[in-house]
Amino acid sequence: GKMTSAIRAIGFYSFDKEAQLQRSVLIETRLRQAIAENRLRMNYQPKFDLASGKVSGLEALVRWHDPDLGEISPADFVPIAERSDIIRDLTDWVLAAVCHQYAQWTAQGMDRGITIAVNLSAEDLLRPNFLQWLRALLDHTGTPASALVLEITEGSLVDNVELAAEHIREAKALGLSVHIDDFGTGYSSLSQLHRLPLDALKVDRSFVNEIGTNSSGELVTNAIISLAKSLRLSVVAEGIETDAQLTELRKLGCDSVQGFLLSRPLEALAVTSLLTQTAPCQQ
Ligand code: C2E
Ligand code: MG
Ligand code: MG
Ligand code: MG
Repeated sequence: GKMTSAIRAIGFYSFDKEAQLQRSVLIETRLRQAIAENRLRMNYQPKFDLASGKVSGLEALVRWHDPDLGEISPADFVPIAERSDIIRDLTDWVLAAVCHQYAQWTAQGMDRGITIAVNLSAEDLLRPNFLQWLRALLDHTGTPASALVLEITEGSLVDNVELAAEHIREAKALGLSVHIDDFGTGYSSLSQLHRLPLDALKVDRSFVNEIGTNSSGELVTNAIISLAKSLRLSVVAEGIETDAQLTELRKLGCDSVQGFLLSRPLEALAVTSLLTQTAPCQQ
């Protein structure tokens, strides 16, 4: 009856919990190994400048294929890495891979105005020697600081806003750019935001998704774009999948766009060829 199904539900619940825990322990072990053995890869998703239609930048997105577990999404393993000390090695690996790739692309004649964005975790921004380490990496690989964009989430500004702000200022002083990713989904306060030396806000995909559906997402997108303009920041919209979304974002005055409609994240080799052809959103 009711009782046995409740017991069964609890049983399944704890079984699921147990299985989940085992899976994240396994992922942790395997990920640590994969980083040590240099078995992660990077994809790069182009960002397009809406005025010129040209590629203005690339977002570096980490990829991991485990021989037994298969392809695992960063949406799954990054949070697990963040709950352990692995995130440091992961971020360092990604930054090194990106700087080496940048050196290769510039040697192949890539436009030096193109920037590469790297996603940071909240904890990266709080690490005491992170920026010194990054600066040494830039020097070592010959990467100009102006080529790198740090994408941080609003969540990075919540735990220790003073230290985060100090490190953002330091990053800016080095010549790096700082964008707030997934903007609108976090809890950063506007009074903090306007005191930070930021370069851009990235409208979260969940709002872009709702454009044209007559719902609040469109209003939020519009509000974020107005906010960015009044703070004199640029606006990037992520997750554009339809022409209607692109048209609306253009109307709203968005500066640059990114999404499957324009390009999926690409292997490095595909980026090399993309950068030698005309941009798809040029009209
Ligand atoms: P994010 O930084 O917001 O990156 C955008 C995500 O949306 C990427 O997923 C991208 O493939 C996906 N995307 C882009 N355009 C579209 C679209 O039009 N439609 C849909 N449905 N999705 C789109 P991905 O690569 O799976 O990454 C997920 C998240 O994992 C990222 O969100 C970021 O938070 C994190 N992540 C990825 N790479 C790294 C990394 O190297 N370091 C850290 N710390 N986090 C990373
Ligand atoms: Mg991002
Ligand atoms: Mg994002
Ligand atoms: Mg996101």
